Amino acid sequence: MGRLFAIEIIYRGIFQKLLANRISRAIVLSAHHEGKPGISFGRYGDSPERNGIPAKNFAIVATDQETLEQGMAKYEPKEVDITIVVDDTLCKGVESWAWYGLQPVNKLLKPGGTLIVTSRETPETIIGMSHRKGTPYQLAIVKGTPSFSGLWVYKDDHTDVRILGTIARLLPDLFSLKSVQQVIMNEWKDSVKTASAAKAYDRASSSTVNPNQGNPEVPYKFDLPKWHEMGEGIAIPCIPAGHTMHDPKTPAAGGFQPDRNPTFKKFTTRTMRPVVNFDTCIKCTLCWLQCPDSCFDVTPEGLYDANMQACCGCGVCEAVCPVKDCVTMVNEAEFSDNASQWEAWRKDKDGYKTWLSEKIESRPERSHGFRYRGQYEEQVPEMLEIAQKG
Ligand code: SF4
Ligand code: SF4
Repeated sequence: MGRLFAIEIIYRGIFQKLLANRISRAIVLSAHHEGKPGISFGRYGDSPERNGIPAKNFAIVATDQETLEQGMAKYEPKEVDITIVVDDTLCKGVESWAWYGLQPVNKLLKPGGTLIVTSRETPETIIGMSHRKGTPYQLAIVKGTPSFSGLWVYKDDHTDVRILGTIARLLPDLFSLKSVQQVIMNEWKDSVKTASAAKAYDRASSSTVNPNQGNPEVPYKFDLPKWHEMGEGIAIPCIPAGHTMHDPKTPAAGGFQPDRNPTFKKFTTRTMRPVVNFDTCIKCTLCWLQCPDSCFDVTPEGLYDANMQACCGCGVCEAVCPVKDCVTMVNEAEFSDNASQWEAWRKDKDGYKTWLSEKIESRPERSHGFRYRGQYEEQVPEMLEIAQKG
């Protein structure tokens, strides 16, 4: 029996689909260049409506065909040598449409396996976001802003080759830098990309994350109903005619806090979240009306508090709010919980004001793709500069 290598790429549906495809394909081609057979395949990311939802690609490589076939007998690997995360906010946990509950980003890593994250955050921040794991693993950061584009547009900012160079350094038994560079020239015919892969190779390093490090929270989970417990068909009971809506949290009539699906929380879709300035809000209701996920709870004084368990971070509320800087989207990595902003404001208005201005200060560009013509030309040179400087 030869050796089997399994690598997963965790990415944001649609925005990073092409990026994940390019990485997993190039992993297999680089290994193949050294005579190792392999296969790459995607999971959960094949539908355009899944913007931002966590999805996975896998690359399976073996030292011989027989070992590969044994490895492929499973639907998908149960453990991996490397987990690649191309958006650091995914380190908070992963919930895709393919399973129920929150999975730690490091769940499939073998003991001693490596988590490679593209990020501009420190290792401490990444470790703090990631759930604790029972066995030690390695963390490597490829410095850079998460690369987002679209279903048909690709942002060629060298994230792909920088990750390949990093793998060559951290798992040399899989493939060498030379093989990566050969594949880059065969596939993309770009010597600047081979140079970026080499720079990433030279800079790559990892540090050990021990079982006592990381987010101590137990990720939410629940039991699915057994087949004999399920209702017939897929009908969802509606609200009976003439029924008065009641707030599910308080008995008050009026439904101020909309009832939400207790088992499908959408916050892992989020790469940024709205922060609301309750002092300047004019209570126009637009955010509440326009939020596609009914995230806003109406407070007793008629303010609107975005529920962070339900918010998917689409940015519509920021776009529709008529008051300047009343709703601001902020990098999700800036937050460590999903607590109510309105509760914090209610308890300490001055403290909230300071908190709000600090959060808004650190607002990075986290565009979902390109919002205007020419943005590609603006963004890619910036990313390449990061790739060169490290
Ligand atoms: S970003 Fe705003 S509009 Fe979008 S889901 Fe969150 S609260 Fe709703
Ligand atoms: S859109 Fe802005 S001003 Fe209007 S209710 Fe929402 S937060 Fe307040």
